[in-house]
Amino acid sequence: KVRVRFAPSPTGGLHLGGVRTALFNYLFARKHNGTFVLRVEDTDQNRFVEGAEQYIADCLNWCGITPDESPVNPGIYGPYRQSERKPGYRKFAEQLIHDGYAYYAFDTPEDLEAKRKEIPNFQYGQASRMDMRNSLTLTINEVEELLAAKTPHVIRIKVPENENVHFNDLIRGDVSFETSLVDDKVLLKADGMPTYHLAVVVDDKAMEITHAFRGEEWLPSAPIHILLWKYLGWESEMPQWAHLPLILKPDGHGKLSKRDGDRLGFPVYAMNWTDPKTGDVTKGFKEMGFLPEAFINMLALLGWNDGTEQEIFSLAELEEKFSIERISKAGAKFDFEKAKWYNHEWIKNASADKLQSTVKQLLAENNIEVKDNTFLNTVIDLIKDRCTLLTDFVAQSSYFFTSPATYDEAAVKPKWTEEKAAFFTAYAEGLNQNLSDATSAELAFKALAEEKGFKPGELMLPFRIMLVGGKFGPGVFDIAVLFGAGETKNRIEKAIT
Ligand code: GLU
Repeated sequence: KVRVRFAPSPTGGLHLGGVRTALFNYLFARKHNGTFVLRVEDTDQNRFVEGAEQYIADCLNWCGITPDESPVNPGIYGPYRQSERKPGYRKFAEQLIHDGYAYYAFDTPEDLEAKRKEIPNFQYGQASRMDMRNSLTLTINEVEELLAAKTPHVIRIKVPENENVHFNDLIRGDVSFETSLVDDKVLLKADGMPTYHLAVVVDDKAMEITHAFRGEEWLPSAPIHILLWKYLGWESEMPQWAHLPLILKPDGHGKLSKRDGDRLGFPVYAMNWTDPKTGDVTKGFKEMGFLPEAFINMLALLGWNDGTEQEIFSLAELEEKFSIERISKAGAKFDFEKAKWYNHEWIKNASADKLQSTVKQLLAENNIEVKDNTFLNTVIDLIKDRCTLLTDFVAQSSYFFTSPATYDEAAVKPKWTEEKAAFFTAYAEGLNQNLSDATSAELAFKALAEEKGFKPGELMLPFRIMLVGGKFGPGVFDIAVLFGAGETKNRIEKAIT
């Protein structure tokens, strides 16, 4: 039975790399009729941020990849927040000490600081551990006294010397590490909290996780986790690992960061994130005007494809087609223009009904109240081809609800004449008969233009500007038909007087 987990730390906004990790977990679970677990890794109390857990859950819901088990919807494998499992971790750390795979370390923060000053790139590990104050260098009695006196201490893993730790990564194949390059990571902190390294292993075991997908940035931690699985005697239950390729900056140089988004004006978070301390808002894809379907589609293709040229996939289709074999090893470049392309495709092909409530809300935020949903749907269908972001619907549709406040006079003025004004007055008079559909409206317009001695082309742009205020929008006769004779007439009259 497949069980996978997305295990974010609640430290702030959810980066698109995090969402992609969640998505791949989710897709793998769906594909194999498995379970997708959300586990909140909140053992680092210094980095804990109020509201971040709720925000992560909201982002996953918005994306349509709601976990099967989570802190708010627990299964039988709880707790789903690491901090709540706190009492359970110490015994494993002590078991490791007992078996000779870990040790107490009593070095004070000042001792460590001094070491770091003395030795550049100081690493607590096989080269240095015998110079430090720990249960490898102190006598049993000394250690017992220190423990009895409740002296602050941590528990560190004792990484073996001259070993090669290797495992099979589902994406990278055989990956190996020389233990001489791995330091003795802290497993249990002075406050009794486990570090991520101990907690991730204990929890994956407790939750019977079968496959662990995570970002490539965790690859250097993998040897520690592999050793712990082995030292705790659980090797046969270890999940299969898959380290997902990095998401790279648009130029391909290095990992995409929040700062790249700030600098280049695109979002890197799924949804707006408000920093609870500073109140600063970091923009998210949702509020920028992305459909969740488009966001998910774009993310799925960052590092995966189905082996064909197909680019547009619904979530249901991804659930069916997703396979680890087709995840690439190489980093995937994030391209905001491409992200917008996905969104445009999804908007273009969405039904008006689906878009309706979002567009309505956006219009309301711009003080435009929509009373007639049928009319709104017609407008949406008429303009959706022109919208790349949902927010574009405001500029593209507001003139359907309120007549233009300003006109692009520069586009018309130089060639404007009394005769043209007279044409429009006459045209407005005859509108009642001529606005049944766009084709007959256009024919009538052209006939009248020729009768009055104009080339119809000279009058189209002014007509458009009278109706919408500028050089944009769908077919001008489509717009006029939608307005009907009364409103079209009003707008012509308002514009020429
Ligand atoms: N808590 C880690 C994170 O914040 C999880 C890494 C893992 O999945 O093992 O990404």
